[in-house]
Amino acid sequence: MHDYHAPSDLLADRIILVTGAGSGIGRVAAKTYAAHGATVILVGRTTSKLESVYDEIEAAGHPKPAIVPLNLEGAVVKDYDELAMVIEENFGRLDGLLHNAGILGSRTPLELYDPETWNQVMQVNVTAPFLLTRALIPLLRQSADASVIFTSSGVGRTAKAYWGAYAVSKFATEGLSQLLADELDDDRHNIRVNALNPGATRTNMRAHAYPAESPGNNPPPEDIMPIYLYLMGRDSQGINGQQLDAQPK
Ligand code: NDP
Repeated sequence: MHDYHAPSDLLADRIILVTGAGSGIGRVAAKTYAAHGATVILVGRTTSKLESVYDEIEAAGHPKPAIVPLNLEGAVVKDYDELAMVIEENFGRLDGLLHNAGILGSRTPLELYDPETWNQVMQVNVTAPFLLTRALIPLLRQSADASVIFTSSGVGRTAKAYWGAYAVSKFATEGLSQLLADELDDDRHNIRVNALNPGATRTNMRAHAYPAESPGNNPPPEDIMPIYLYLMGRDSQGINGQQLDAQPK
């Protein structure tokens, strides 16, 4: 999976939604999916960032993406239902869903952890992916071959001191992924669901989490794209309910 070579048309005619598509891993994933033929629905909170991804995809001659500004911290059920309606009207189905957006919160002992920050992290990292998935399941069911990726983390598998709500939210993400994979493992087998840990990757989040680290020590998001492609394309059919790592251990 880590050295997967995707054919250039791997994702032709596929409709793929990426959250947090304006920067970091999500930005690169959105552009990579578009470069392999997908029509990408760019979801994020900063419209200007989404517009610049849109422009880059368009300038490269890839399928025209769609932009949906959405702040996952404040969005309510109605917003997700409206998003599902727009996708239904424009595409009639969804073939891929990359839950990528996330926030770090603070790195503090639990005893001192700010309850408001705790709620924000849980809202963006857990409740929003739940609400988004819930609204989009009917559209995933309309796909002949759909893939859902939840973004986990090393501290979502083994918790470490001071990672607070972030670690707990990623444990919940793993739970959400496993539960959904089991529920959707029906006779049609048309929706697979997996949790993916990107591993240390050169982004703003990583720089905030490890301010003393030299960014050059970690691979850029481009380097971890093989598994992001593998999981969205037909070659991962049958891979379901797994805990995967984007970088070799
Ligand atoms: P970044 O902080 O670089 O990017 C996070 C993305 O999420 C941004 O596009 C951001 O939008 C978006 N986002 C944050 N809050 C909201 C919100 N309220 N509503 C909508 N979008 C929002 O992080 P990474 O690219 O590093 O992380 C991507 C995923 O990978 C996360 O889930 C993270 O937990 C996970 N991860 C990353 C690792 C790493 O080393 N980088 C390691 C393990 C896991 P905007 O740009 O507008 O702020």
